Amino acid sequence: MYRVTLIPGDGTGPEITEAVRRVLEAAGVQFEWDVQNAGEDVYHQEGNPLPDRVLESIKRNKVALKGPITTPVGTGFRSVNVTLRQALDLYSCLRPCKTYKGAKTRYENIDLVIVRENTEDLYAGIEYQKDSEGAKAIIDLVKNISDKSIRPDSGISIKPISVFGTERIVRFAFEYARKNKRRKVTSVHKANIMKFSDGLFLEVSREVAKDYPDIEFEDKIIDNMCMQLVQKPELYDVLVLPNLYGDIISDLAAGLIGGLGLAPGANLGGEYAVFEATHGSAPKFKGLNKVNPLAMMLSGVMMLRYLGETQAAEKLDTAIASIIKEGKHVTYDMKSKPDDPSAETTSGVADAVISKITK
Ligand code: NAD
Repeated sequence: MYRVTLIPGDGTGPEITEAVRRVLEAAGVQFEWDVQNAGEDVYHQEGNPLPDRVLESIKRNKVALKGPITTPVGTGFRSVNVTLRQALDLYSCLRPCKTYKGAKTRYENIDLVIVRENTEDLYAGIEYQKDSEGAKAIIDLVKNISDKSIRPDSGISIKPISVFGTERIVRFAFEYARKNKRRKVTSVHKANIMKFSDGLFLEVSREVAKDYPDIEFEDKIIDNMCMQLVQKPELYDVLVLPNLYGDIISDLAAGLIGGLGLAPGANLGGEYAVFEATHGSAPKFKGLNKVNPLAMMLSGVMMLRYLGETQAAEKLDTAIASIIKEGKHVTYDMKSKPDDPSAETTSGVADAVISKITK
């Protein structure tokens, strides 16, 4: 019996999470779910979208399965997802992207692993609003210590990238590559322009790579990486990236394998692990029992593997693969036309997966 924190999330999160809970139990593993709500509704009820009880629960249970949580754009509360990763020091975001046979996609045989740094970079949340004391102080400081100037009507976001943060994420990528028999790690950056932040990321990547002579290492500039992934994705294997590029490339890679409905993920740190899909809360579909639960189910497969429940993980993965291959009980996003009347519902996908598992 595993005690796992279950965060249903908001938007379409609760319906997807429920589908995933059901298939995980059908895979034959016993869970005691410690359900903890967080997100927009909790913000309105409790004044904080991520109350301490949620973090305490994850600290107690060490493992969590999380639905997506909405972040207001531009204004409003800071991202619960980012805060959670920082508060629990879940420094690696692991996002495998591989094509399942039968998935509607322009590419075949994609097998990429995105390793995204999860705590630093422009996601650090060190920001100063236009006209704030902080923004003014930074504008003055920059004027005093350099020959550059920042326009007085600027908002400012700071991009810290450290040796410590980079070393551990690049090491994680190499260790993952070694353990999973992957051939190459590509470090992605924009070190030609941001010489002291991305430049440091590249320098540390090169240093760490020396400890792994059995694995090929190369680096790519982010803009070129985007083009390469669209044109010849088969050349790439494990990609390690700073936070923001990792976020963007995760969605690009999801596009290569048939969409966000198929892209799973895990946030891992030294002590805790939070499993969640790459996609967000898709709020326009809230309550419609319509969106694809497979990305979160595949995150559940990752969780089973993490827990050492290899057999159950295989069983669930195989059932999901055969549902995708048959193409019958899949949601609208996996049909050739999004308005296909034969599109399966979220809960219907769970039913179909469960019937495969228990056959
Ligand atoms: P999104 O991932 O929710 O949606 C992007 C597109 O993909 C939309 O067209 C959506 O309908 C579709 N989509 C997403 N998940 C799907 C699924 N399971 N099945 C079928 N289609 C799916 O991204 P967004 O619209 O940019 O963000 C919505 C909200 O989610 C925002 O508030 C954002 O901050 C938040 N978000 C949360 C997380 C997280 O919880 N980790 C991650 C990304 C975005």
